[in-house]
Amino acid sequence: MLSHHNRTALSGRCYGTAVTPPHMTHPHPPTPDELAALRLRYHRERERRVRPDGARQYLDADAEFGFYAADPYAGEPAGRAPLRDTVDVAVIGAGFGGILAGARLRQQGVERIRIIDKGGDFGGTWYWNRYPGIHCDVESHVYLPMLDETGYVPEWKYAPGEEIRRHAVRVAEKFGLYADTLFSTAVTELTWEESEHAWTVTTDRGDAFRARYVITATGTLTEPKLPGIPGIRDFRGHTFHTSRWDYGYTGGSPEGGMTGLADKRVGVVGTGATGVQVIPMLAEDAAHVYVFQRTPSTVDVRANRRTTAGDVGADRAGWARERRENFLRIVSGEEAGEDLVADGWTSSAGLLEKLLPSFRRQGDREVFEAAYEVADAAKMNEVRARVERTVTDPGTAERLKPWYRYACKRPAFSDLYYPAFNRSNVTLVDTADTHGIERVTEHGVVAGGTLHELDCLIFATGFSVGVSGVQSGKLPVYGREGHQLLDTWARHGIRTLHGFTSNGFPNLIRMGTLHNASSVNFTHVLDEQAVHAAALVAAAESEGALLEPSREAEDAWTAVMAEGAPDHEWFHAECTPGYYNREGAGRPNGPTSYPHGAVAFHELLRRWRRESMAEALLRAGEPGVQRNGGR
Ligand code: NDP
Repeated sequence: MLSHHNRTALSGRCYGTAVTPPHMTHPHPPTPDELAALRLRYHRERERRVRPDGARQYLDADAEFGFYAADPYAGEPAGRAPLRDTVDVAVIGAGFGGILAGARLRQQGVERIRIIDKGGDFGGTWYWNRYPGIHCDVESHVYLPMLDETGYVPEWKYAPGEEIRRHAVRVAEKFGLYADTLFSTAVTELTWEESEHAWTVTTDRGDAFRARYVITATGTLTEPKLPGIPGIRDFRGHTFHTSRWDYGYTGGSPEGGMTGLADKRVGVVGTGATGVQVIPMLAEDAAHVYVFQRTPSTVDVRANRRTTAGDVGADRAGWARERRENFLRIVSGEEAGEDLVADGWTSSAGLLEKLLPSFRRQGDREVFEAAYEVADAAKMNEVRARVERTVTDPGTAERLKPWYRYACKRPAFSDLYYPAFNRSNVTLVDTADTHGIERVTEHGVVAGGTLHELDCLIFATGFSVGVSGVQSGKLPVYGREGHQLLDTWARHGIRTLHGFTSNGFPNLIRMGTLHNASSVNFTHVLDEQAVHAAALVAAAESEGALLEPSREAEDAWTAVMAEGAPDHEWFHAECTPGYYNREGAGRPNGPTSYPHGAVAFHELLRRWRRESMAEALLRAGEPGVQRNGGR
């Protein structure tokens, strides 16, 4: 029997690299020498993975690969006559962003709300992603919005996807959002009609209706992507993307029981947050599972459990708001007192965000970076030690260890993932040295020169980033005088007020992270955005004004955004490739989200709504075009 120390040393050799540093077996605060060794190792591992084609390595799931993105749940949409009517507000997107916008508009008394979505029902990401094992990684009591309003109390600390999807439907029903919603419909263009003070919304179903306001809630990780490798179209077995799970083929449900796989050799490409959830379920049901891994995830403790209303204090009014504020404060590094959620996110997953506020207060970058590196290394040592403790085969354990800094990739949480690799029907195939799987043939996947024959090939390869909505160009927006939003931004830089509105594009409100806030609990951010969007609409209505910020207000906000832009770039530049850093290229240049964090941003919005809302309004009689400088 090998001791832990021997196993570690042996597995280091099996991996073909230097022997694993001794701190791996006994996590403790790393010494300066250990930090130096880690830095070197992280750099080498990054170099193994950076590809010259970067983000171009992927294929979109469209054209001949469109079947990977087809809706497996809705079937063929029923025919309907194209719409030519007028609504008060068109909301693009029926995920939580769109649902919350609809709900908050209702609370402001808005009647004709039309939500439009490509999917066949409400839910957004929870409509599309129904793969076995799907759960929310964020505690359900803070993730699920409108718990105070609906009286619903989640049953699990981390809710299964189906419970979340049903909650989306519950909120949509409660606020009467079904009546005018267009499902299985994609918006193709938005055009401002100056004479009517309304937008024309055109869709792929022949609609061309008017909306006095438009809110875009189109999400970010919506379009499935595939590896752009030779032979991908040749595979003769069954294949699909995790976000379009084919239960017709596998049998079973998100809870498992995939009897259709009992005699099947299944390959899974990808070990991100999705792969980590799906692989243990496949291991239970398939004859054999080949896991094609390029970069291992950090997989931390899940500890999911049933919860009662008493556990979360759900007998008190406002309990859910209080809990999610508490969570947001903790993961943002703000003072919060008691940690109500007490999980992997609050203890460490917000590592970078947590340390940033003190850096901003003290301003000493060196002190900040040193403290951050130590905390980061201790956390990653803990994760690597977890692999060692759990995975019995030393070679497999070594290949499952992540060698990069914690926030380089989205952390994952599972108590089932590492044990799955102790099963005799699971094989881990490491593809780092060949930059991923090399080729697909009609019979299977080639990795490291070996063909792995498969009956079924499942892509857990994630989503194209930022390709949906008005920021992608896939949904052209023509504002005053026919100016296109993206052209205007290309010429003048991205210009917004709080990310929501832009000069020259009246009555158009964008939800999302751009010039706005971001957080791991994104539904919280979306709800704050929805409240704000509805307040903007209500103010414009009561003032008889258009929603359009002055150029001065945009200038001021753009300057705020520029101040904080460099914060994360130094970090992501040295990270292993992934969608967080444009596949190794570093963070996209230019401003993204509000630099001082979501808590401060939400406070700023509340204050602004009380004091300065006039900045966002163009009153009747004010010279809109001149104010736009004729852009
Ligand atoms: P990711 O983009 O995170 O992961 C894609 C995976 O595919 C990576 O492991 C990647 O490897 C791998 N891959 C890509 N190309 C190849 C190739 N040619 N050969 C081998 N492997 C390849 O997608 P996910 O769907 O896992 O997650 C996307 C996001 O969705 C998450 O970051 C998270 O924000 C969200 N999510 C949230 C969940 C929740 O519970 N709330 C659950 C699941 C997802 P490499 O890392 O080397 O690029």
